[in-house]
Order: sequence, then C-alpha cells, then structure tokens
Amino acid sequence: MALIEAKNIKMYFPVQRGFIDSLFKGETTFVRAIDDVSLQIEKGETLGLAGESGSGKTTMGRLCVRLLKPTEGQIIYDGEDIGKIKGKELRLLRRRLQFTFQDPTSSLNPRLSVGNAIADALKFQRLGTPAERKEKAEEVLEKVGLSPASSFYDRLPHQLSGGQKQRVVFGRAIIMEPEFVVTDEPVAMVDVSIKAQLLELMLDLKKDLDLTYLFISHDLATARHVCDRIAIMYLGRVIELGDRNQVYENPLHPYTVGLIGAIPVPDPKARRSEAIPPGEIPSPINPPSGCRFHPRCPKCMEKCKTEDPEFREVDTGHSVACHLF
Ligand code: SF4
Repeated sequence: MALIEAKNIKMYFPVQRGFIDSLFKGETTFVRAIDDVSLQIEKGETLGLAGESGSGKTTMGRLCVRLLKPTEGQIIYDGEDIGKIKGKELRLLRRRLQFTFQDPTSSLNPRLSVGNAIADALKFQRLGTPAERKEKAEEVLEKVGLSPASSFYDRLPHQLSGGQKQRVVFGRAIIMEPEFVVTDEPVAMVDVSIKAQLLELMLDLKKDLDLTYLFISHDLATARHVCDRIAIMYLGRVIELGDRNQVYENPLHPYTVGLIGAIPVPDPKARRSEAIPPGEIPSPINPPSGCRFHPRCPKCMEKCKTEDPEFREVDTGHSVACHLF
C-alpha cells in the first residue's frame, strides 16, 4: 500500500529580477525544479532518489514532507492531500513526516547543546514537561549510538565529530516517532568507515521504528546498500524507476547506464564500461526540447530532439522515459 503518492508534481520557482528588468521584460520566467513527477512510496520501503546535483532530488524530498507546496499536482499522504493542510493540522502532520538536512554542521545550532537540539523538537510540538523532554532526548541519544547519553547531552555541535553530528540529526528526526523520513545525502559529509556505520544505524532505526524512507543521494554505490527501489532524476523529471536489481543489473536509460558505469569498482584491473556523458545538466529555466537528456546522450536520434519520450513501464515495476524502449 502506498504511504505517499506524488501525482503530476510541478514545482516552479520565479526567477528574481531587478526593478529595471522587470519593467521592460513583461513575462516572469521560472526555474522548473520539478516538472511533472509522479511517484509512489510504499509503507515500509526505502525509495532512493538519485541523480547529479541540480536534478531536483532535494526539492522533491521537501515537497514530500510539505516543506514546500507544489505549484501543481498533489502529494497524497495516508489518503490526504497534504498541500491543502494548514494550521494545527499541519503542525500535527509534521510529527509524522521528518526531513534530515544534508549538512549536519549547518543544520545544528552551534550555540545549542545537542541534547537540547533533540528535545526542542518536542517543545515546538508542545509535548511533555522539560523533565520529560530531557528524559526522552536521552533515550534517543542512546538509540542513535551516542552513549552514555549523559556525556553527550550538554556538548555543543563543535565538540562532536561529523559522524556524531549526523547521529544527532537522526535523533532529532526520530524523537517525534515519525512514520516517514526523507534523508538528504545523509552520509555525504563523512568518510567511508563512518558511512557504513551510519547506514547500518539507518537500517536499524527503520526496523525498530517501522519507518519508511526517501533516501536522497547522488552516490549510487551507497544507495544500493539501503534502497529497495531507485528512481533516477534528471532535470526535474524521473527518467527511470525500478527495484534495486533492475536498475543496477539492467539499467535502461543512457543516463542511468552512465551513472552505474561511474560507480568505483574496488578492482584495479576492472574496466569501466560506460561513464556519465560529459557536459552539465542544462538550465531548468529553459530545458532542451524533446528528450531533456538529448544534448548529452550518446544514443541520441533525430526524434529525440523534438519528441519528449513518455515515461512508461517496460517490465514489471521497471519504467523508463527513452525512445529506445
Ligand atoms: Fe537518448 Fe533519445 Fe533516449 Fe533521450 S530519448 S535518452 S536522447 S536515446
């Protein structure tokens, strides 16, 4: 059963212009950060959202927890359109949906102890007495591996390592006992050995708390370890979606083939089959005509330049937007 369903989501941000510019150029231009994305996230699964930076992954994650309201389309959570929720109902919804930001250092208040940073999530939701909040925050510190909690509670963020700060960020998300957590590049700022421990912690929390995750990452090697299904995004669209094995063993879209081919292999003799096609993601203000990937695609055909490929299922649970399929 789908816990979250995004239906034809568009998120356009108006481009800020100077006063003179706005007098002489009539129409407002928009950054099309998300341009017609539909997705379902099943209860209990981890869906990976991958792609290069600028593909729209973080915007999509923020929309799923109502940190942003879509320009068009609906996010249905547990049967309800969360774009229409406001006031007290929205505050209550925030307990069930959590978002962990990419950089733990900048997402923690440098002057607030990590124990209070976790307990404050309860305060904002007007839950518990100060003593109860402290007790709960200590429980959470233990749960995320910062033990004994009493020795971590009063520390300031700069007194923790990168991995420990990320644990605090997880703690702040789970203290509300949410159902759904969006984690934005949760292990991008730590080294490999810590990365494995944090991913293990995420999986343990998922099991213990019955969580559903949207795991945002530009790193497909990491996503492979934790995700059940993977959605690949390019320039505001999902261009391939399938279960982990389908996407890694049989990538279809030339962009996905490049991303998978670029995953480092721990074998000096191994040869790379493909690499990410050179070039950068074009501007989302004025995306290319036809297939958005055509200026970089090594398999581009004439019709790719004018016809936008439909996103369709080509195998059970495996969908792609490409004229080759
Ligand atoms: Fe390449 Fe054409 Fe497929 Fe786009 S539709 S990915 S340009 S082959």
